[in-house]
Amino acid sequence: MSAPKKLFIKTYGCQMNVYDSERMAEALGTKGYEQTTDADQADMILLNTCHIREKAAEKMYSELGRLKQFKLAKPEMKFAVAGCVAQAEGGEIIERQPMVDLVVGPQSYHRLPKMADAIDRGEKAIDTDFPEEDKFEELKDRPKARRAPSAFLTVQEGCDKFCTFCVVPYTRGAEVSRPVDRILREARELVERGVAEINLLGQNVNAYHGEGPDGDWTLAQLIREMATIEGLERIRFTTSHPRDMEQDLIDAHGDCAKLMPYLHLPVQSGSDKILKAMNRGHTREEYFALIKRIRDVRPDLLLSGDFIVGFPGETEEDFMDTMDLVEQVGFGQAYSFKYSTRPGTPAAERAQVDEDVKSERLQRLQALLGKQQKAAQDAMVGRETTVLFEKQGRDPGQLIGKSENLHAVHAFADKSLIGTVRRVRVIKSLTNSLTGELI
Ligand code: SF4
Repeated sequence: MSAPKKLFIKTYGCQMNVYDSERMAEALGTKGYEQTTDADQADMILLNTCHIREKAAEKMYSELGRLKQFKLAKPEMKFAVAGCVAQAEGGEIIERQPMVDLVVGPQSYHRLPKMADAIDRGEKAIDTDFPEEDKFEELKDRPKARRAPSAFLTVQEGCDKFCTFCVVPYTRGAEVSRPVDRILREARELVERGVAEINLLGQNVNAYHGEGPDGDWTLAQLIREMATIEGLERIRFTTSHPRDMEQDLIDAHGDCAKLMPYLHLPVQSGSDKILKAMNRGHTREEYFALIKRIRDVRPDLLLSGDFIVGFPGETEEDFMDTMDLVEQVGFGQAYSFKYSTRPGTPAAERAQVDEDVKSERLQRLQALLGKQQKAAQDAMVGRETTVLFEKQGRDPGQLIGKSENLHAVHAFADKSLIGTVRRVRVIKSLTNSLTGELI
């Protein structure tokens, strides 16, 4: 038997890319590849790219330039580019950087084994199709190795919302939901492999409408059915759009014990004028009303958000509307960025806000969000929560896990508790984590 080939994957961007990287590693596993953490030892280096950040394509080309040293030292090394930049750039990548052997888009990576054969024959392989066949079905036989206690499971892909700043509808295509039975089968397999928490993923996960046994199911129906899987202790989902936050999903937050009290619900801006310019499809008042309905059923839910400052046309008054929204809503977690143009999106063509103004606004917003985040974490001290222990900490005898609200929690506990959910009393709030003790 020949020695396994080594595969080094570098993943950029969101959790969906983390999930895709796992599945790509599994697909290439059928061709004898095993993952390595040493890029210089690899037989194949795969960059799973993200198009959300500014100048994503340029950054990928400079990363390839940096990695060229490995190719010079080991000429038989193969290079692959996957993800949203691969989708957007296609064969152009090989034209600009001929050491790249393979370019595969997010919808066609189930074809990787065949593509790996082609590059072994010395050919170049490019596939950025949106194929008819279901990639997850093609990949359904996952290896049965033991898994970490928390896993991602993609249930929905693509987006039809066309926010004017975003490339996702162009790189990932239209909204598609996976059928219920296939998701449940994958969830059961994950639980058999030691997974206690599943995070359902989708670009617009709450737009989920997958084929069920009796017509299309909503995300809430899917979650309730998943909650019946014995051994599955926790369910989460991300990322949601306010427009798709239907009442049945809100109700599930109130009565489905396995659904964790954490919700990432991006709002991006607190100004009605900017929300409209972004094509978000809702107003600030509608967002307030939605948050109230959610908190009415689950008062301890920790809310997370995304914000863009300096969107084209944003005045100081618009920005102060965002600050006011943050003050009124209160976020336990948030991601905030300066607006930056994405070629091909409508907002890229508009008059831009001065960079210094954007930086100054971002500073003010992050100071406020940071204060709220710390306050939410500090408020946990003295409370009891459950923690799913995921791994050993740096200190001997210490484990690290996640609370129901997704706070990182350190506690002294036997390592046999990894993979289990335990009750913990929070005793200290540190910079980015909590310290707890087992009850
Ligand atoms: S909802 Fe908007 S921001 Fe989210 S993926 Fe779709 S277009 Fe992009």
